[in-house]
Amino acid sequence: INSADPIADVELEVKAWAREKKIEIDELRKQEQFRREFLSNISHEFKTPLFAIQGYIEAVRDDRFEDKEMATQFLEKASKNVDRLSYLIKDLDEISKLESGEMPINYTKFKINDLVREVLDEMEMKASQHDIKLIFKQKYDDNIMVTADREKIQQVMVNLIDNSFKYGKQGGNTSVSIFNLHDQVLIEVTDDGIGIEEKYLPRLFERFFRTEQSRSRQIGGSGLGLAIVKHIIEAHQQTINVRSTAGLGSTFGFTLQKAKQLPFPAIPVLNS
Ligand code: ADP
Repeated sequence: INSADPIADVELEVKAWAREKKIEIDELRKQEQFRREFLSNISHEFKTPLFAIQGYIEAVRDDRFEDKEMATQFLEKASKNVDRLSYLIKDLDEISKLESGEMPINYTKFKINDLVREVLDEMEMKASQHDIKLIFKQKYDDNIMVTADREKIQQVMVNLIDNSFKYGKQGGNTSVSIFNLHDQVLIEVTDDGIGIEEKYLPRLFERFFRTEQSRSRQIGGSGLGLAIVKHIIEAHQQTINVRSTAGLGSTFGFTLQKAKQLPFPAIPVLNS
């Protein structure tokens, strides 16, 4: 600043400084609110199954039934809620490790089709329990190699396919497609289930976010699956997207980097 009015210059500088500070303070406030919401979400997610377990156990302890069959059913329900708590703890552990960078990405090269087939085989049983047909829509050659963390991408696929079962429809289909792009492949998981209203789409990948429909459907879930998926894909510097129509179904798609192919046969460079 170099004008004829030094006082005006100082005023301008002070204003700029104040603006900067305000941005910093707003950011801190946002983080603080985020932490508060996070804690309250965690305690809510823990409370629901814990109260349920307590209720079932007390009912069995007080012997409130005429038939024994009922007691067994109550204990089974308690056990399901114990499972839900363990999944929640596992997901929380996972997300905190991902966020603190304790889970580095271990890149290897592998055939993406092999991984997709492996995951589909693994999930076949669960699909039939949900009365859903799992389809591999293989469109391109079998040998596309990608560079990624195989285990983590496997988890991404499991989370997305698992969601397609939870929010899918009985007798419906889940399909996995691979698209060959220029430097990347695009992997899409499509279902014909309940779909997602447009207003929810921007918040879907937030931790603990669940739509009204999934809360009211009493579907077990931590609300962390998609947050974990997003973390993993972004740690690979790749992108994840969702398209959906309420009542018709959803498609989740993510990209992976193709492995750089050496010209074949590889010719060693000789230094003379
Ligand atoms: P959750 O444990 O609740 O499944 P996620 O993070 O995996 O948590 O998903 C967040 C929310 O996004 C879900 O609760 C559900 O409302 C919505 N959602 C995710 N996948 C689908 C899908 N395939 N179809 C419809 N809604 C979905």
